[in-house]
Amino acid sequence: MWPKLVKLLTFALVLVLLSACGAGSTATVPTAVPEPTAIPTAIPAPTAAPASTTAPVAESAPTSAMLTPVLPATVTDYQGETVVVESVDRIVSLTGDITEIIFALGMGDYVVGVDSSATYPAEKTKALPNIGYQRRLNAEGILALNPTLVIGDEAAGPPEALAQIRSAGVPVALVADPPTMEAPMQKILFVARALGIPERGYELAGQVEAEIVRARADAVTLPRPPRVLFLYLRGTDVQQVAGANTAIDAMITAAGGVNAATEAGIVNYAPLSAEVVIAAQPDVILVLTKGLESVGGVDGLLQIPGLADTPAGQQRRVLDFDDLYLLGMGPRTGQALADLVAAFKDTVAQTGGS
Ligand code: ZN
Repeated sequence: MWPKLVKLLTFALVLVLLSACGAGSTATVPTAVPEPTAIPTAIPAPTAAPASTTAPVAESAPTSAMLTPVLPATVTDYQGETVVVESVDRIVSLTGDITEIIFALGMGDYVVGVDSSATYPAEKTKALPNIGYQRRLNAEGILALNPTLVIGDEAAGPPEALAQIRSAGVPVALVADPPTMEAPMQKILFVARALGIPERGYELAGQVEAEIVRARADAVTLPRPPRVLFLYLRGTDVQQVAGANTAIDAMITAAGGVNAATEAGIVNYAPLSAEVVIAAQPDVILVLTKGLESVGGVDGLLQIPGLADTPAGQQRRVLDFDDLYLLGMGPRTGQALADLVAAFKDTVAQTGGS
């Protein structure tokens, strides 16, 4: 835990230093991410203990000035390809997390199309043309929006559709989306660089990083780790558990929990089975809000064989979160993590502390 935390703090410090280097261009617009009342405290002097100092970050407070992208911008995508962006006037965003990042960077007015996973900010994304599901993209529909930039992450596909967009002369910039707590910062920095506003990227990534560091520091105070089972549900047809190498595994672990599916040997997503439920014996069941609705709420959930007999089932301890908020690894990740830590604290309190 300690070396990891120190590493994160160092990263936060580097981000702050980097944005301080560009102090000439403090022009920003308000972000879609609510400003924490006190800027998170994770920017100690190199020798200070974590979260023990409240460094002033006044120069990163957003102003209402306009952002002026510096173009052309060049990025290297997750496959090692160099992508040159000449114009950000018409952006089609292929994945919900990247859309959320574009808006949080203050560039949402340039977005002309989003995919069906783009649910935040809700009113803005609802009003935009929808290009369908990120893994089943259709090149014609995207090209019809006359994009000057198509941007997303490695979830976007199929590759043939992306190749067709590239061959029409439109830059396609895709960033890696690893299932780690570093993903939000990596994606923010990539998107900001692609949009020609790298300084704003350092600023936002630094804020998100600080929120994550603060939530992790809070997680360390849990008297014991709760056992957590995450279920991905789409009615009775799709019922899966998430083990190692998933975004939710990173979240559960960072929030101080034990992913009971990982402990049961699950890697990636795997079909829910009675064996896994019995081995997992979760203190709490974690689901997506839509998933919980799809099985008819907590009563429906507890009809799944084995679940009612677990500690979580007996006490009806079920947590539900919005999917993009919990799994998106976007700009609200630090807030989602803080929510998870608070919920885990309740769970541990209810299950008898130590
Ligand atoms: Zn993604």
